[in-house]
Amino acid sequence: MSPFFQKAQDANDVSAEDVRKAVTTLLRYIGEDPSRDGLLETPDRVARAWLEMTDGYAIRPEKILSTTFEGSSDEMVLLKNIEFNSLCEHHLLPFTGKAHVAYLPAGGRIVGLSKLARIVDVFAHRLQVQERMTEQIAEAISVNLKPSGVAVVVEGVHSCMCLRGVRKDGATMVTSSLRGVFRTDNATRAEFMSLVQKS
Ligand code: ZN
Repeated sequence: MSPFFQKAQDANDVSAEDVRKAVTTLLRYIGEDPSRDGLLETPDRVARAWLEMTDGYAIRPEKILSTTFEGSSDEMVLLKNIEFNSLCEHHLLPFTGKAHVAYLPAGGRIVGLSKLARIVDVFAHRLQVQERMTEQIAEAISVNLKPSGVAVVVEGVHSCMCLRGVRKDGATMVTSSLRGVFRTDNATRAEFMSLVQKS
């Protein structure tokens, strides 16, 4: 048994066999023959891919943001174009895109830039809706760093919209969460927006 299956089984009382059966059922549902060569390993691969794409459940955001270093600057910190991939909880299909994350440090609490990228991944690697993901990223930074402001903008392309339903290829969904100074001060918000829009 692969470690992936072992993990799933330990955590949720689901056996490797249960998972394989579920994927096999889906294959049969669409009229496929799960016993043909190309599909023999598919149930295993799908289960493994699923666990990889949802490994954010096992990571606590407060742990990532707990290592801060002292900084004297209270200027905006912005990490833009953070690529992410997630799964929409309505269709279990991928949505992908970029997140832009900024905060205004307070009390000297600053984190390494890579931590901002990891926070995006923690929430992206769960079943999501983009609006909630955007809020959760902002909330985690807000609660753990207690900055004077947080701004998160997420641009996502949803394959559930491109591949099925209305089939609008390339339509980008934009969501934002602005807190603290980014919400109350027009100039700060405008500075953030113009930095994000600059390519
Ligand atoms: Zn969807």
